[in-house]
Amino acid sequence: FLVRALPLKDAEGKIVKWYGTNTDVQHQKELERQKDNFLGIASHELKTPVTSLKAYAQVLESMFKRSGDLKNADFLSRMNKQVDRLTNLIGDLLDVTKINGGRLQFNHSTFGFNEMVEEVVEDVQRTSSKQIIKKNLNFKREVFGDRERICQVLTNLLTNALKYSPDASEIVIYTEDHENNVQVCVQDYGIGISGEKKDRVFEQFYRVSGNKQHTFPGLGLGLYISSEIVKRLNGKIWVNSVEDKGSTFCFSIPIRQETAL
Ligand code: ADP
Repeated sequence: FLVRALPLKDAEGKIVKWYGTNTDVQHQKELERQKDNFLGIASHELKTPVTSLKAYAQVLESMFKRSGDLKNADFLSRMNKQVDRLTNLIGDLLDVTKINGGRLQFNHSTFGFNEMVEEVVEDVQRTSSKQIIKKNLNFKREVFGDRERICQVLTNLLTNALKYSPDASEIVIYTEDHENNVQVCVQDYGIGISGEKKDRVFEQFYRVSGNKQHTFPGLGLGLYISSEIVKRLNGKIWVNSVEDKGSTFCFSIPIRQETAL
């Protein structure tokens, strides 16, 4: 924007004022604010009907199951899965508006790190036939931090690993116990990410473009949200990847958050 700023000079050629700059920046900021505001209201409004849809679909699914009507139970189970996807998408949009508005809240508690990892793996494994292999989850370490938000980061990495790898391949998850932090890595043997694009995957709305990628659904928000969460927890998140070979996404967080955020 500064490039477009023009100096207003007096008779002696002295700059008395710049014009252009301020209005452009303000205008851009106002548009950003309106966008965030709209996203916030829209996702909030979408959440209520979707929550009630989910409740009805669950009741119907168990009714059909109980009466032995397996065909309809299967339809309802598919419907439930789609409603879950919708709920996650809305949740991501809500999180982004919270992050952009500086309103992402944390709720810290003490919890067993590897227990949490096991729980997330179990949940995600239920949704996929690909094998998630656990390695080195045998250390016991208590962490003081926001358990739910850390689960969210790990869920994102695992669901991406499943999404961006071929059907027959497996996923490996391993943890490391360091003096002041704990680390977890999710490795896949999928499509991978090329060099220059690797640095951008944590950006808001960024999705790698190309033949291989366009068939995968998504908003390009999961990694952005994950990196913001990890940043706020004073941790680090990174990726090593080779195109067509696979990716390893890792994050580490301090074992103790110093202040309530
Ligand atoms: P989404 O998956 O909804 O597009 P994300 O923010 O989770 O959004 O990821 C951003 C982009 O990074 C994805 O669109 C994809 O191109 C790339 N990506 C993420 N995880 C992987 C992975 N495990 N393997 C290959 N590419 C990935």
